[in-house]
Amino acid sequence: MSRLNFILEKEADGSCARAGRLTTLHGEVLTPIFMPVGTQATVKSQNVESLKAMGSRVLLANTYHLLLRPGIEVFRKFGGIHKFMNWDMPVLTDSGGFQIFSLPNSRNLKEEGAVFRSYIDGRSILLSPELSIETQKAINSDIMMVLDQCVPSTVEYALAKSAMELTYRWAKRSLAARGDSKQALFGIVQGACFKDLRKQSADALTQLSFDGFAIGGLAVGETKEERNDFCELSASLLPKNLPRYLMGVGTPIDLLEAVHRGVDMFDCILPVEQAQRGVAFTSIGKLQMRRGIYKLDDTALDPNCSCPCCASYSRSYLHHLTKSNEILGWQLMAIHNLKFYHGLMADMRNAILDNTFSSFYKIKKEELIQTDGNPPLSAFAKGGSLRLPRAEKRKRLGDYEIIENEKGFWSVKQRSSGETMHSVSNPMVEAKELYIDQSNLSERLATSNHKEEMNEDAEPFIIWDVGLGAATNAMAAIVCHESISNPRAMHLISFESDLDPLKLAIKNAGRFPHLYHKAPRKLLERSIWQSDSGLITWNLIFGDFSILFSSQKIPDLIFYDPFSFKTDSLLWKAEFFQRIFNHCKASEKTTTLYTYSASTAVRSALLHAGFWVGKGIGIGPKLDTTIAFSKAPESELEKKNLLSSEWLSRREKSYARYPQELDVKSQASWDAKILNHPQFC
Ligand SMILES: [Zn+2]
Repeated sequence: MSRLNFILEKEADGSCARAGRLTTLHGEVLTPIFMPVGTQATVKSQNVESLKAMGSRVLLANTYHLLLRPGIEVFRKFGGIHKFMNWDMPVLTDSGGFQIFSLPNSRNLKEEGAVFRSYIDGRSILLSPELSIETQKAINSDIMMVLDQCVPSTVEYALAKSAMELTYRWAKRSLAARGDSKQALFGIVQGACFKDLRKQSADALTQLSFDGFAIGGLAVGETKEERNDFCELSASLLPKNLPRYLMGVGTPIDLLEAVHRGVDMFDCILPVEQAQRGVAFTSIGKLQMRRGIYKLDDTALDPNCSCPCCASYSRSYLHHLTKSNEILGWQLMAIHNLKFYHGLMADMRNAILDNTFSSFYKIKKEELIQTDGNPPLSAFAKGGSLRLPRAEKRKRLGDYEIIENEKGFWSVKQRSSGETMHSVSNPMVEAKELYIDQSNLSERLATSNHKEEMNEDAEPFIIWDVGLGAATNAMAAIVCHESISNPRAMHLISFESDLDPLKLAIKNAGRFPHLYHKAPRKLLERSIWQSDSGLITWNLIFGDFSILFSSQKIPDLIFYDPFSFKTDSLLWKAEFFQRIFNHCKASEKTTTLYTYSASTAVRSALLHAGFWVGKGIGIGPKLDTTIAFSKAPESELEKKNLLSSEWLSRREKSYARYPQELDVKSQASWDAKILNHPQFC
């Protein structure tokens, strides 16, 4: 019977990620969890009150260091580390194995244990599995680790094998030394980057009655790919009903990758160590506060963080503290970094429990691989000023900025392409007129108009929102639904491959009033939002629409609002429309696609794909837009607005009637397919 009573609460779909809980002698721990490192019975620069406030629940202490100083007798005097350091929550102790890794030469290693010369008083110490456990018992940690031989992950096979085998023999001795102590004990899987050794190690250790297992010997010289592969392999070899701990790893992206591969527990010095060097892990990437660009920056370290550091101090001040090597700089930035790490773990746990981890993983991965996104010093040097005014900074995120139209409304602009979303009129007005009013959405959502009104299993009304952008079209649909007294269920599916426009608009919500609603923030956090009534479900499908659409339910409506042909040409080509058409044709219902484009090229492509194509309303200076139907439309108005022979004759004169890449030979058959479309017959 495990001493930790680990309960596996949930395993994510499409990922090995898992959420669980375990019970220690000092309280319950929710996993996945990050454990700050307190080598010397202190997390450097932090007091325990601050650690708790930032979300720390388990601390890691180091047996070898604490054995040398203050020594076993001090812990015996206090009954353990908890009272000694005023920490009443769980503690995990490392065994000293990592210090063996750092031993200057292997002659100091024997079957009995590892011989060290104390850096305190020079005396010689034999750290054996028994002494390690005896020390950990005196420290009274909640979770003890076996003494292991950790070797660089790049070592040759023979050394990796002998270290793995020694680790196993020491594991058995550690278990015997633990005896009937109530403290939990973890075995450690070794084997460097050799699959068969990892397997042998796991097979042998899992025969023994450990309370959990650690994956050791990673983040010690291997590549990122090797780390991920061997983490995945090792986790898959371990029993499901016990916690898994990846030792000494890592960066935020490492944590995400390892949780995705089935790891529950982590420790790493990075958040605190990097804080001392002026590095912050933030929602907008890794920032180096020593850089000159922060000298006059009066904004918060992380615009999306509420920790005491971000709430009260500017980047300018942190820059100054870091440059002056002031302890306060280290302390404040460590507070922030720990909050960021614990927040990331909590988000992962929530996503696993909500069963949205797969999409969370994709979104976070993109986000976490961003590095310092701030422009270099030289970008500002010319103007003689080192800073963008605070208000200007707020208006930018990644490749996007918000701009004010001469009429006074705000839009999101992509800087690289120069394209503005909803450029010609007020975005909310445009969304309502083009996508909501034109599609008769409120009538179609009213239950009284729904044939199967009494049938609870009736299909929800499905909308594809292609190009979430700043969520203007999606929110227009939600507002429409919320204004109906007895609506049918609506399933809104938004596709997006870059969430910066929405994040930027939320940051400037005063200029995007449609975002005064909890739905967009929830969608960003969880990839799903459901209304309290349960009648609206809004999903975010993150990634490439051209790949992801085919696994989604056939829609009643498509709001087709990606960037233009110039920026996103694939999405406007006949071959791609053909795929959408084929997908929608499989249903008995008619799918109607609304888009802002009225170009001859787009209309020709839609017709060529098989859609029935008509004119939509004009917006701003545009005379009309386009509507496409997967089947012949039924309403008189829709029939009346179908493109006619008059349009065909205008098309004859357009240079855009064929795709550019079409050779002359193929043009005739392209023409024939359009001219023979039933809507012209
Ligand atoms: Zn913060």
